[in-house]
Amino acid sequence: NRRIVLASRPHGAPQPENFRLESVEKPEPQEGEMLLRSVYLSLDPYMRGRMSDAKSYAEPVAIDEVMVGGTVCQVETTRHPDFEEGEWVLAYTGWQDYGISNGEGLIKLGKTPVHPSYALGVMGMPGFTAYMGLLDIGQPKAGETLVVAAATGPVGATVGQIGKIKGCRVIGVAGGVEKCRYAKEVLGFDECIDHYAEDFAEQLAAACDKGIDVYFENVGGKVFDAVMPLLNTSARIPLCGLVSQYNATALPEGPDRMSMLMGQLLVKRIKMQGFIIFDDYAHRYGEFAKDMSQWLAEGRIQYKEQLVEGLENAPEAFIGLLEGKNFGKLVIKTNDP
Ligand code: NDP
Repeated sequence: NRRIVLASRPHGAPQPENFRLESVEKPEPQEGEMLLRSVYLSLDPYMRGRMSDAKSYAEPVAIDEVMVGGTVCQVETTRHPDFEEGEWVLAYTGWQDYGISNGEGLIKLGKTPVHPSYALGVMGMPGFTAYMGLLDIGQPKAGETLVVAAATGPVGATVGQIGKIKGCRVIGVAGGVEKCRYAKEVLGFDECIDHYAEDFAEQLAAACDKGIDVYFENVGGKVFDAVMPLLNTSARIPLCGLVSQYNATALPEGPDRMSMLMGQLLVKRIKMQGFIIFDDYAHRYGEFAKDMSQWLAEGRIQYKEQLVEGLENAPEAFIGLLEGKNFGKLVIKTNDP
């Protein structure tokens, strides 16, 4: 039973030595419990927050404890009346091969799911985040301009595609030519701007010739700086994530622009609202699951996964996720089914 624990807390970008791969004995399920064998482990930006002991909406991972994370597992042995051997479940066993569960919080995925790993992406937490943030807070209307960054990741790609279903003009922001091409050709975005381009802000302004009505915020930093002057009166900003800031150790240099931001929010009557998906919307999961399974079945939503083989490669893959090295939803294939 291999597991990866948090060896030390990072200062700035996580380093390989912040993680430690260990080998421990396979746990034994007691009566009413089962042993879960992980097949897929989800890697997500929020895990950077759990590595830090700064106050947040969730408790940090303790030093020497297993890194947390969503997993898709198979039941290996069961002493629980409601679960059978070989059954697939969505669980939260973290960065390790095996976990013990009493069934609490597990979601059953059946005996032969077609795409078990989708439960970590488009049909799971990131897809749900895109759906609720865009539809409930963003309130997109046909003909409006929607901008979303991290446009090829599981949240951004889903936001943009739902925006197209709702009749918006959708402008993505992504890192690099290849990601931008994918956003336009496969995801069907109207435009996608490379944030590494020197004239990024000018290109974004040209693509948003009627301004921006909904900006779905995933990254912050220079992307938000370029977006802010383009926001229309009554624009909405679902504040979902700020991944460009997760490794920051200090506030950015330069003049304080808080009063400029507040002035813009005031005169343009902009609504900006943060949300934490399961804390705020758990009760609406059914709505999402119904719409999303239909859109997937109809081929209206495309989904890209980047599968990395081997639990031992999780730290490097995770470090890369915070630098944009992933292309699509980052998933570790921990074990064969
Ligand atoms: P992604 O797979 O999209 O990975 C993050 C992406 O962010 C990278 O691939 C990279 O894309 C982009 N990025 C990284 N650094 C920068 C930077 N400095 N400037 C611009 N872009 C950068 O992740 P997810 O789709 O899983 O998550 C997207 C966002 O949603 C994150 O901020 C995450 O924290 C947030 N989130 C929030 C939830 C909530 O409940 N509020 C729930 C789930 C996710 P590129 O190469 O294209 O720049």
